[in-house]
Amino acid sequence: MKALPVVRPVLLPLGGAAAASSGFAVNRVFCVGRNYADHAVEMGASGREPPFFFMKPPQSLFLVGDQTAQWPYPMATEDCHHEVELVVGLSSGGTNLSVSQASAAIWGYAIGLDMTRRDRQAQMKKEGKSWEIGKAFDRAAPIGPLLPVESLPGLLDQGISLTVNGEVRQKGEFSQMIWSVAETIAELSKAWEIQPGDLIYTGTPAGVGPVSRGDLLVASVPGLPDLRLQVS
Ligand code: MN
Repeated sequence: MKALPVVRPVLLPLGGAAAASSGFAVNRVFCVGRNYADHAVEMGASGREPPFFFMKPPQSLFLVGDQTAQWPYPMATEDCHHEVELVVGLSSGGTNLSVSQASAAIWGYAIGLDMTRRDRQAQMKKEGKSWEIGKAFDRAAPIGPLLPVESLPGLLDQGISLTVNGEVRQKGEFSQMIWSVAETIAELSKAWEIQPGDLIYTGTPAGVGPVSRGDLLVASVPGLPDLRLQVS
């Protein structure tokens, strides 16, 4: 018998006062499509549509600490886009959660990038096929440390931004979300049993666009450490 594969659980580093602990064991990684009105419009939607979900494998998380991380330009694309997103980590679960139950399930927040091979996604959309190749590739989900919700009072009254080479490319207020963080979790729990350790990428504001080798991406949310990525 060959040696069995050794697969380690993905542990997301914690920030702030929790930094010394072992990390947040990641269960599943859900993502929400088109959750800011201005981005929905740029992707061809109109009006308030129900949220829709897709997933990335936990192994596609690319953990970024305090330092600028080198992120290799992905294979099999010539149009890789950035989507900056607030990520929420859950410490409890359930089905058919109310909005207040959903809110109580939040352990903390991180900054993430939902990197997208837009050319491959567009091709699959056109052919009516599934999108995994556009969204769930290796290192497709850069993410910074997770901070506990108690250390981030007023976070949802603020917003998120992304600069590329010092120029603002994406900027949005969380109040512009079509489905709030808690509403998103509640909607998700109507279709999946939410479990401890689940992460949710909560959608991106307008301004998505291509990255190139050498670009420096800096994603910011007040209260969270900046996520800094250089495309290599
Ligand atoms: Mn996204």
